[in-house]
Amino acid sequence: MDTAKVRLKIAVQKSGRLLDDSIKILKECGIKIDNGKDQLKASARKFPIDLLFLRNSDIPQYVQDGVADIGIIGQNTVIEKQKDITEVLNLGFSKCRLSIAVPRNSDYSGPSSLQGKRIATSYPNSLQQYLDKHQVQADIHEISGSVEIAPNIGLADAICDLVSTGSTLFKNGLEEKEIILKSEACMVKSPKMSAEVEPILAKLIYRIKSVLTARNNKYLLMNAPNEAIEHIINILPGMKSPTVMPLATEGWSSIHTVISEDRFWEIIEALEEAGAQGILVVPIEKMIV
Ligand code: AMP
Repeated sequence: MDTAKVRLKIAVQKSGRLLDDSIKILKECGIKIDNGKDQLKASARKFPIDLLFLRNSDIPQYVQDGVADIGIIGQNTVIEKQKDITEVLNLGFSKCRLSIAVPRNSDYSGPSSLQGKRIATSYPNSLQQYLDKHQVQADIHEISGSVEIAPNIGLADAICDLVSTGSTLFKNGLEEKEIILKSEACMVKSPKMSAEVEPILAKLIYRIKSVLTARNNKYLLMNAPNEAIEHIINILPGMKSPTVMPLATEGWSSIHTVISEDRFWEIIEALEEAGAQGILVVPIEKMIV
């Protein structure tokens, strides 16, 4: 086998919301892509992968067929397209939800209010599944973009669309009523992926995980009087025990540790109350766990 020719083919969005973050995460994994504008395929330097730039909605089919070994798409697309592909890793960006919204001030008291109504969406399969689950019969109007204007132009009574901040709904006089599913970008794998590219995928996943873990954690440094150290250590969660080093000032120490972004403010406040001073928070570039 000529190992130099074995390359992992990754399908990414040609243009749109996921592209920049997909390229960014690969770059943070040390994988630099030389892609010119309008190029359909690009090779990475120093890592055996090729990127295929495809239309978002086509990626599940190409991955199922083995044209690409893996793809980066939203979980919403995985669910909607119902192809034979497997999610292998959540990527933490493009977080959104697929929701049903109705014009503000309309009568709405739950999914049964959608009975007999016209609902515009680009996600007919996901919506149909939701309606079936709630035994509601509604008229699904599939449209490919600008779904949120459908009620205003008299095309629909409700919409089912992706929402992140909710500002688009608000601007169009709509109110979010039901969340059908929650989504973020993920990596999907082809059932046809050959065993020889498996080690490349394993290496890539290892690198991505270390980037994602680093993004979710912060390195924390603080000074504290020695009598406060025990209390401070009890406040600090997990990892291994923190590093405690004496300062030049008698009776004081410097404490270093890593904390998760999720509980960041809560912990900082507790540390200040416990007597920590000069708290420094530093981003972590990579974290091998
Ligand atoms: P698009 O760039 O509009 O083709 O969207 C591609 C993917 O980005 C979608 O399938 C979702 O996974 C994600 N996405 C779309 N809209 C949003 C949004 N409002 N907030 C976050 N992610 C989104």
